[in-house]
Amino acid sequence: MHHYETDEVIEIESCPECQKTHSYKLKVRRYLVPTYMSESDFGAKPILKQFTFTFPCPNTKKDFETSCTLEETATEKAEDAEVIGLAD
Ligand SMILES: [Zn+2]
Repeated sequence: MHHYETDEVIEIESCPECQKTHSYKLKVRRYLVPTYMSESDFGAKPILKQFTFTFPCPNTKKDFETSCTLEETATEKAEDAEVIGLAD
């Protein structure tokens, strides 16, 4: 199985600490599932997988935990991810 890492940005729309919107950089560990079926066989809509992360609020400097969703496709799965920091 081929694993690789991608940098992705996720947006938290209502921070539980300050109710503002923050964007965070994530390092997402993904892997490819070998399949003979093409993407269109599964339909175009992405699969959403839920993860829980701890994010630092830049305003209050407190950490909060919240769940968010990462997109998967039929052949590209998200295995794990870590929060790198705030996105610009
Ligand atoms: Zn905040």
